[in-house]
Amino acid sequence: KKMAKVEKFALHVPSLEELSRVLQDGLKENFADVQVSVVDCPDLTRDPFNFPVKGLCGKPRIVDVGGVPYLVPLVQKDKVYDLNTVAKQIELPGAFILGAGAGSSKILGVNAEFIPVVQAESEQKPAVNASYVAQINPADGGCLLEKYSDKYSDCEFGLLANLYASLGQPGKVIEVKANKRTGQCNFVTCMRQIIEKHYGDKPVGMGGTFVIQKGKAKIHIMPPEFSACPLNTDEEVNNWLKFFEMKAPLICQPVLVSRDPGFDLRVEHTHCFSHHGEGGHYHNDTTPDSVQYLGYFLPAELVFRIDRPKESHMIGRD
Ligand SMILES: [Zn+2]
Repeated sequence: KKMAKVEKFALHVPSLEELSRVLQDGLKENFADVQVSVVDCPDLTRDPFNFPVKGLCGKPRIVDVGGVPYLVPLVQKDKVYDLNTVAKQIELPGAFILGAGAGSSKILGVNAEFIPVVQAESEQKPAVNASYVAQINPADGGCLLEKYSDKYSDCEFGLLANLYASLGQPGKVIEVKANKRTGQCNFVTCMRQIIEKHYGDKPVGMGGTFVIQKGKAKIHIMPPEFSACPLNTDEEVNNWLKFFEMKAPLICQPVLVSRDPGFDLRVEHTHCFSHHGEGGHYHNDTTPDSVQYLGYFLPAELVFRIDRPKESHMIGRD
């Protein structure tokens, strides 16, 4: 198998104190009630996260694998990747990886949303795959959310993924509490735009996890069949996707880069899972008056771009 091309770029890394002040000031314009602070990362092995590691800290990295051009206009089913390989490609074997991607249709037999939560294999330890897959339930057209490890033992995914990787260690992180949305943008877009406005052409990347504690959210799941006819516009992609309103609590995995330093990056991508059978790709909350967000974030030191498409476009990146 041919090795995928790997590119690497150093990000601007603000101090946690500075970034938390920037977010506090900006989020006030978009949420009625905002509290941003630097805290010890809560133990993420506990509810509602149940991650295989305690924290988000240690060599934080952003990874952008493949891309939407492998999905639309027409799918390239041979685009499959492995998170254990990705961990080695980003020089972090054993990395803890969170993020948003597509399932491997070779393994799953269908197209699906992939919600990676993986501690990659290392010399000391086999991989721990705590990922979820959200797909359209063939029985009723609703959401079918399953733990990946209930059926499969690999760490594959397909087509594209936006990932936040770290050593999964405890440590200091930025805590964001934001309630009652007053602006138009979703929580992640809002933070990305605040960071872009403040840091300008110095790209800052951030990942972590947040919980929509109260309210509901607009979430999509890709249909089980890839489109037989080319999807050439955002409108055609949106007509192909299946949209749902899902309820809190939703545990979300955001990956953002304030701006693309020229690697054809997807600048934000967030998937979510829950413990009540719902999950998928986050667009926004649908209950601005009652929504409550609680998140933990860390700025990344590096971006890795793996298997960047030769021919690209901006369709389907919402
Ligand atoms: Zn997605």
